[in-house]
Amino acid sequence: DRLVAPAARREEDALDASIRPRRLHEYLGQAPVREQMQIYIEAAKGRGEALDHVLIFGPPGLGKTTLSHVIANELGVNLRVTSGPVIEKAGDLAALLTNLQPFDVLFVDEIHRLSPVVEEILYPAMEDCQIDIMIGEGPAARSIKLDLPPFTLIGATTRAGLLTAPLRDRFGIVQRLEFYSPEELARIVRRSAQILGIACDADGAGELARRSRGTPRIANRLLRRVRDFAQVKGDGRIDAATARAAMDMLQVDPEGFDELDRRLLGTIIDAFDGGPVGVESLAAALSEERGTLEDVVEPYLIQQGFLVRTARGRMATPKAYRHLGFQPKAGTPG
Ligand code: ADP
Repeated sequence: DRLVAPAARREEDALDASIRPRRLHEYLGQAPVREQMQIYIEAAKGRGEALDHVLIFGPPGLGKTTLSHVIANELGVNLRVTSGPVIEKAGDLAALLTNLQPFDVLFVDEIHRLSPVVEEILYPAMEDCQIDIMIGEGPAARSIKLDLPPFTLIGATTRAGLLTAPLRDRFGIVQRLEFYSPEELARIVRRSAQILGIACDADGAGELARRSRGTPRIANRLLRRVRDFAQVKGDGRIDAATARAAMDMLQVDPEGFDELDRRLLGTIIDAFDGGPVGVESLAAALSEERGTLEDVVEPYLIQQGFLVRTARGRMATPKAYRHLGFQPKAGTPG
């Protein structure tokens, strides 16, 4: 298990409950999203209507689930949480929808993984607050229409491109979450430290923030690991020196890269002469799944300018060469 993996680990859910923001003012960073949502929420409340359906996209760990909780709390309604792969049959979704109270929020994580039959049920539900369900079987089967209370669907997905066009078109509000800046992550670390009763100064928080790959979930996870280190090896306080020593021990480098990131960049440079190399060859050389590279490892390397995706494949940039202690090859992009 990678310490810097952006996806949640099972044991983290319980730990997260206390530090997960509940209100908009606690949701740090993502200023444009926060400002817009504040207006949409206030407007919907003022009119006494359900908030428009919201689609949130962004890499794992950036706060899609958290934002849904925040939206429901700000609206003062219940949140029901489910996910695309969990809803197997049309009836499962119908049961969820018919159990909603007026204005409730239904959060569907990984909404791109809904099956086509289930997705069909959603269209009239989202558009007209109605669902068509089949009752009975064989010749006696008939379809009945059920009215639903007004509700808000919040769908989350890692990439907007994964959604079918008809589904995407039914969301009135589309929000895209960006990687957080080190300053924003430092504020998140300090807030979490305060809630958890950890003494962490500004430099310590800054050091953790820089190594958290723009991702709050990773920042909070690193904070917990560094707390252990500080408690055993120091006086329990997290300052820059403790944070650095702990991160070195955990092999998270100053860019927040771990062994897999360095191996990926090193392989492109060493085995493929800097690239371009196709993702399949790269995955084979690293003995990793192609999907893991594309969804989990590459986005941050690309965003930080260590890797470029060209039509002919991946290439390491001069920044990658320098980070690994190589002399950049003439003509490398970036
Ligand atoms: P996603 O659903 O995108 O995978 P989550 O909403 O589960 O991500 O966020 C992961 C964790 O990061 C949350 O439990 C929360 O503690 C923290 N977090 C996310 N976004 C923010 C934010 N804007 N401000 C503070 N903490 C956040």
